[in-house]
Amino acid sequence: MPPQGRMGGPGGHYMTEEEKAAQPKITGRLIKRVFGYLKPYWKQLILVLICIAVSSVFNLMPSILTGKIIDEGLIGQNMRLLIIFIVASLSVTLFANLIGVAESYINTWIAQHITFDMRNQMFSHLQSMSQRFYTTNNQGDIITRMTSDIDGVESVITGTFKSILSNSITLIFALIAMFQKNWILALLGIAVIPLFVFPTRRAGKTRWTLTREAQECNDEVNGILNETLSVSGQLLVKLFGKEKQEYERYESVNRRMINLNIKERMAGRWFFVVLHTVTSIGPMLLYLVGGILIMKYDSSITVGDITVLVALLGKTYMPVNSLLNIQVDWMRSMALFSRVFDYFDMEIEIKNPKTPVYPEKNTGEVEFTNVDFSYDPERQILKNISFKLESGKSMAIVGPSGSGKSTVINLIPRLYDVKAGSVCFDGVDVRKLDLAFLRKNIGVVSQETYLFNGSIRENLQYADPDATEEDMIEACRKANIYDFIQSQENGLDTMVGNRGLKLSGGEKQRLSIARVLLKNPALLIFDEATSALDSISENKIQEAIDPIIKERTSILIAHRLSTILAADEIFVIKDGEIVERGQHKELVERGGVYTELYNTQFKNAETV
Ligand code: ATP
Repeated sequence: MPPQGRMGGPGGHYMTEEEKAAQPKITGRLIKRVFGYLKPYWKQLILVLICIAVSSVFNLMPSILTGKIIDEGLIGQNMRLLIIFIVASLSVTLFANLIGVAESYINTWIAQHITFDMRNQMFSHLQSMSQRFYTTNNQGDIITRMTSDIDGVESVITGTFKSILSNSITLIFALIAMFQKNWILALLGIAVIPLFVFPTRRAGKTRWTLTREAQECNDEVNGILNETLSVSGQLLVKLFGKEKQEYERYESVNRRMINLNIKERMAGRWFFVVLHTVTSIGPMLLYLVGGILIMKYDSSITVGDITVLVALLGKTYMPVNSLLNIQVDWMRSMALFSRVFDYFDMEIEIKNPKTPVYPEKNTGEVEFTNVDFSYDPERQILKNISFKLESGKSMAIVGPSGSGKSTVINLIPRLYDVKAGSVCFDGVDVRKLDLAFLRKNIGVVSQETYLFNGSIRENLQYADPDATEEDMIEACRKANIYDFIQSQENGLDTMVGNRGLKLSGGEKQRLSIARVLLKNPALLIFDEATSALDSISENKIQEAIDPIIKERTSILIAHRLSTILAADEIFVIKDGEIVERGQHKELVERGGVYTELYNTQFKNAETV
């Protein structure tokens, strides 16, 4: 589906095949839900309705007064009346426009507040979505819902709703006024309308198709820019020497884009030629037939009346065209709303229990009992995992890549819930614990450390906004990063760069250890980076974690012998099952999975 929020676009009155296929079922429930968002603003809405009605009517008045200016002022040669009508006409125009300003303000205010509510609601909803949602859904899609789709909703309120109302009112009043003046000419004027509806529709269709193609092209351009102009993208391009190829890829889409833009602008130009020619037929016909009526049939119709009719006819073109297309606009608006609602309706997988439990102790003890888990129904990842980590103890989880080590730890802070069995934290099933409490008491140093683009201080304060300078320094000392910070000109205020990329891998890891220490969790989980660090960096990390894990309950996903040796007990996982457990020495001697890992990974790593 193309990005939305283009309803205001020229010729946006035609649904594409794609859109037709994705048409929402417009049910009473959907409409009720849409109007539910308007409900809190009903007072302002009534005000808008009044403003629209008044300004639509007042906008027609100058056209009617023109008749009086001509007949009674000019032809009647009455200076006083001429001036009165001129002043009246100008005042009415001014008044209608002032009301228009007020209406725009209130309308925009309502629309902005509705989108404000919706965005906040969506943001908070998305924050409660599970990790599964984020690993499955395209990030671009999520951002589109948050931005363009909700922006589209705003244009529905300021555009579509307003258009229905103001066009209907303008049209009704213009037609009444026309028929009051002269029904023959009024009918004639209406008869001309189909003449311009057809070309408008055609030109609109072409433009819409081109606009859509240009926008798809634009999405493609954005995609290329995102991929190639990001830090890691550029690194890849440079290291593989793909600059020329990337340039050519970009240039070709860019070229397609300008061609489409030129075509689109030109389609617009032809549209205006056709429109102007056809719309000028109507007034000419009115002058002609009006003249015949006056000259041949001695009708009571005046020159002023004909002028009024011509002016009013001009005012009916736009509303007729818009109203003819309202159904499509309406469908598209509803499609937009239902796209947003689809996200709102996605079930929150990991919910806080209704009556959350807080454990009596807070020691970070973890117990897995016969845990089965799978990300997708087809493939079971963890099978019958059972272990108990006593408080104050540490365990190392080792195993081949993809065996399920990270998956085990994902289950503790409830990033995912078990399929069968249970995970207990401090003696209580994690599904019964208060989610915020649980996560507050678990600190994870993950493989991919994520730092925000800010200073070291800001990154540390993310864990504890109230941390004092001393707290931060102490945490950094413990994490073995303080020397580095001190050596920097700006100390704690050193900027870490985009995603922390101005720091080395080891520095990032140690900084994230300091961050976790400031959080001061009962359970510490350290998912060791698989990527190799130099031995000095490794030693520094090792020196940092050794004392920490002696102090508190910890789980280490270990890839290095030194880390493994620091733990009280070693668990070996293979294909989602615990196949061995014990101490290093006995496991090496056993000749099983651990021995193999030791011979292939740990031993070599030690000698590097
Ligand atoms: P490594 O040492 O390479 O980090 P690991 O032992 O930590 O590996 P996990 O990350 O737990 O392995 O992954 C276990 C299996 O689950 C892998 O086969 C992986 O493909 C799969 N997997 C991991 N995350 C997801 C996910 N979000 N959705 C579906 N499958 C996943």
